[in-house]
Amino acid sequence: MPITARVVQVARAGGADAMKLVDVPLPNGGEPGPGELRIRHHACGLNYIDVYQRSGVYPLPMPLSLGMEGSGVVEAVGAGVTHLQPGDRAAYASNPPGSYSSLRVMPAKCVVKLPEAIDFECGAAMMLKGLTAQYLLKRTQPQGGLAAGDFVLFQAAAGGVGLIACQWAKALGLQLIGTAGSDEKCALAREHGAAHVINYRSEDFAARVKEITGGRGVKVVYDSVGKDTFEKSLDCLAPFGLMVSFGNASGKVPPVDIGLLGAKGSLHLTRPTLFTHIATREATQAMADDLFATVRSGAVKIPVERRYALADVARAHEDLEARITVGCSVLIP
Ligand code: NDP
Repeated sequence: MPITARVVQVARAGGADAMKLVDVPLPNGGEPGPGELRIRHHACGLNYIDVYQRSGVYPLPMPLSLGMEGSGVVEAVGAGVTHLQPGDRAAYASNPPGSYSSLRVMPAKCVVKLPEAIDFECGAAMMLKGLTAQYLLKRTQPQGGLAAGDFVLFQAAAGGVGLIACQWAKALGLQLIGTAGSDEKCALAREHGAAHVINYRSEDFAARVKEITGGRGVKVVYDSVGKDTFEKSLDCLAPFGLMVSFGNASGKVPPVDIGLLGAKGSLHLTRPTLFTHIATREATQAMADDLFATVRSGAVKIPVERRYALADVARAHEDLEARITVGCSVLIP
């Protein structure tokens, strides 16, 4: 008997109202093929990348099932899958998308066992965002590396990735300067470990960074705001500093004149994505082990601040785009 899933799909790129909750029979009767598994979701993560995919900023073939992060229980595994079995609690960040659903069949290499100590909501919220904080802070290093006491700048520090990064940076001994769009968000970033905070809607963040660092600048800027902050972020870097442009919440960064990097102090620029880091099962597991250990140690708490029913996904996207959310949000199927 075919298995049907409730899935959030978009037929054509557009606004939040383009998303529809539909019943879709799983391919192949729901039987996982080689290297695949079927997972029943308990929670689905909400991420800004879902907005880019829904709206067409990142163009993908349509109709598109959305969502790249989830947790739940494995129901069946295909040939060759040995690291998970039916009944296991599991979580993932995945490409292709499709986690906004009651259940799905997907590549098993993206999926890891979820430790008993971590609940499904945290599991769904922490994989894409936590693994991103992991690779940003530990695998995206400036010249000479990062050491305790170093200054770094993290834009949008009160968001999902942001509040995880604030805590993790503190645990690593870094002095994270966090920006956010309101005084309340700044206070939250500080509570989560930011050493300094700047409201970038009311203050000149580059001037404040210079002030905080005694004129020197920071070793790394992590910038996911994109168009609105990119160029000024370069002004916050010390000579040889590293600009990590990893998102575009305010719009895509326009083409860059690489001469700027020389003029502003022999800067380094990278535009990473999580999906290069988690391309193999081994790398995914190693990064997830580090994330789980850090969460279990208490150094990082996963800030699940909002829960939405899957049927209310349009409201969840509207809130995310209106900059109303802080920390992580989950959808409950
Ligand atoms: P957030 O919860 O951080 O939400 C985005 C935040 O960006 C908003 O809350 C807002 O915070 C800020 N922002 C600034 N300008 C705008 C604008 N014009 N419109 C909307 N928001 C704006 O999202 P996530 O935690 O899901 O992701 C954070 C960023 O990291 C995203 O850009 C995402 O795409 C990127 N990312 C990149 C990955 C990669 O590997 N490259 C992986 C994961 C995430 P405020 O009000 O404080 O300004």
